[in-house]
Amino acid sequence: MTQASTEKVNLLGLTLAQMEAFFEQLGEKRFRAGQVMKWIHHFGVDDFADMTNIGKALRAKLDEAAYIRGPEVVSEDISADGTRKWVIRVASGSCVETVYIPQKGRGTLCVSSQAGCALDCSFCSTGKQGFNSDLTAAEIIGQVWVANKSFGTIPARMDRAITNVVMMGMGEPLLNFDNVVAAMHIMLDDLGYGISKRKVTLSTAGVAPMVDRLGEEIDVALALSLHAPNDELRDQLVPINKKYPLAVILEACKRYIGRLGEKRTLTVEYTLLAGINDQPEHAAELAQLLRDVPCKINLIPFNPFPHSGYERPSNNAIHRFQDALHHAGYNVTVRTPRGDDIDAACGQLVGQVADRTRRSERYIAVRQINA
Ligand code: SAH
Repeated sequence: MTQASTEKVNLLGLTLAQMEAFFEQLGEKRFRAGQVMKWIHHFGVDDFADMTNIGKALRAKLDEAAYIRGPEVVSEDISADGTRKWVIRVASGSCVETVYIPQKGRGTLCVSSQAGCALDCSFCSTGKQGFNSDLTAAEIIGQVWVANKSFGTIPARMDRAITNVVMMGMGEPLLNFDNVVAAMHIMLDDLGYGISKRKVTLSTAGVAPMVDRLGEEIDVALALSLHAPNDELRDQLVPINKKYPLAVILEACKRYIGRLGEKRTLTVEYTLLAGINDQPEHAAELAQLLRDVPCKINLIPFNPFPHSGYERPSNNAIHRFQDALHHAGYNVTVRTPRGDDIDAACGQLVGQVADRTRRSERYIAVRQINA
């Protein structure tokens, strides 16, 4: 809770511990925190008047001190393959995107952590827009809240629509650490969304010191956006590699997955770019690089966007790359593009970001047309 005590607090973004502290400050019992969390996250309630197990006097007190506000939904699209995409406006005025991907037996929600991104990976359309703002914890968990409500809020329903959350939308989650960690605590909490810790995945481009901090604060699955088997190529594709090169980030990831002594694996994401990182020698080098990293590899065929300068490899090239890694003993999956008819596939999430770094001339041009 960063607000001054006179300012109203948005309860949507509070973890259980923060909610308990809030009630203590109000001079109320801590167990109220759990009751209110359930109303917010299980039942999608945003009005204290609907909280029937809370007396009138306390509801009036809550109205004075707090509110519950989800992010503003600008649009909701449903793709031919069942994928859903929400465009959400955040406090800075920018828009971010949230994507729901239904699959047999599970439903994955892809959540954004920042409006824009400062890391400027060469093949990512979000990065091309520059960075605008960090999302608050309420804006991050608010994406889960909005998506969950769109499936109805029947208590204890058997067919849970959202079984997995991946922090793979817009932004670099480890550069908005506190808000992302708070939101993930709410995802895991039974009084929040009760999602298993193995089914909440944080994906990073490789902010090595924050991987260690993550391990100190929460236990979730980790994915690394690798995209290249050597520093020379990775420096070009993922510029943060110049700061935290492969040896440094892979050690940090190994520490993260090794710290509980349980059998955990790292997910390695590798976007395949035709003629750039998809050749047999890249597969061989990758197999060598990861030989002592317990991992599974997820290949993402490049999703094109205007003026990217890159192309998706042929299906043959993709399968050759996959087979080479298979033969080297790796568990390798190829991510099928989902929702690309509504621009919801990886790297197609652009929202509408007012670029503070002015890196994106393309976007500025678009804004001028719209102005
Ligand atoms: N910043 C975090 C979270 C983004 S996750 C990270 O880098 O991990 C989104 C994933 O999609 C990342 O692996 C990213 O590198 C990949 N990606 C970005 N643009 C893409 C594109 N045009 N085609 C395919 N994958 C892309």
